[in-house]
Amino acid sequence: MAYKLLDGKDLAGRMKTAMKQEVSELIAKGITPGLAVVIVGNDPASRTYVNNKRKDCEEVGIRSFEYALPEETTQKQLLELIDTLNEDKTVDGILVQLPLPKHLDEAKVLRRIDPKKDVDGFHPYNVGELMIGNPILPPCTPAGVMEILKDAGIEVAGKNCVVVGRSNIVGKPMAMLLLHAHGTVTVCHSKTRNLKDVCSQADILVAAIGKADFITAEYVKEGAVVIDVGINRNAEGKMTGDVDFKSVCEKTSAITPVPGGVGPMTRAMLLKNTIKACIMHKNGGVS
Ligand code: NDP
Repeated sequence: MAYKLLDGKDLAGRMKTAMKQEVSELIAKGITPGLAVVIVGNDPASRTYVNNKRKDCEEVGIRSFEYALPEETTQKQLLELIDTLNEDKTVDGILVQLPLPKHLDEAKVLRRIDPKKDVDGFHPYNVGELMIGNPILPPCTPAGVMEILKDAGIEVAGKNCVVVGRSNIVGKPMAMLLLHAHGTVTVCHSKTRNLKDVCSQADILVAAIGKADFITAEYVKEGAVVIDVGINRNAEGKMTGDVDFKSVCEKTSAITPVPGGVGPMTRAMLLKNTIKACIMHKNGGVS
């Protein structure tokens, strides 16, 4: 079957061009969106993500502020920094790079961020808004997936959507967004029985598992849309998704690659949320 490659890199590039224009119009009115990124410790993957976020901001004209704190930063120090950023009028978005070192309480830290500046969409306030169908600042990865589907003209309403993974940052919000788009949604996890059977019923299958090449052809219905959120390293250190692309692609009608699929869209959605937060602040509240 001829399948459509869902090129997230291309879409993210188009979105960035549009956002660059939007930001330049804001700047002309004296408003510059600002994103503060907080990183604690020396995790190399986190460092790469933070560098990429800075580059993305530069590309579209968003002002970025980086706070690189040492590994031994205390909970109190981190919360104080967040309080300062919450008050800072030049900061529209605050992102704390996860994972945090073990001695820090991630949940408490995320709850301290002003929900209006929570551009990752992880604060319980924004999680609640998402749940009731008002995703003010939706989590970037699932929001990026929805943009991919929309851009490709893939209708969600009435479709059987299966999400494999139930994390707070990907699986659960993904399921909610698909549900709000009127999909019939099943969420699977490590205790799901007959996972292959459940997945092979999916018109739209989203893999957010964290296991390299886990989804093989037997999991996929002929003609399904397959979205691969996974970012893993294989034995040779090469980036690979949760979907065994080679064995699966011919069975699908559309599929995201890794790299170049969901990853670039996650980055683009962070910029989108930052601009959205900035506009909300300018308008004096939550829309
Ligand atoms: P988590 O580890 O938090 O969640 C993984 C989920 O997969 C869990 O719900 C787990 O089930 C489920 N799972 C694990 N093994 C199986 C199995 N054998 N069968 C069925 N379900 C299983 O990961 P994240 O949600 O944070 O991330 C998922 C993947 O997405 C990772 O590869 C991550 O790197 C990637 N990612 C990519 C992003 C991007 O921008 N492209 C952004 C964020 C993440 P249970 O709950 O029962 O343990």
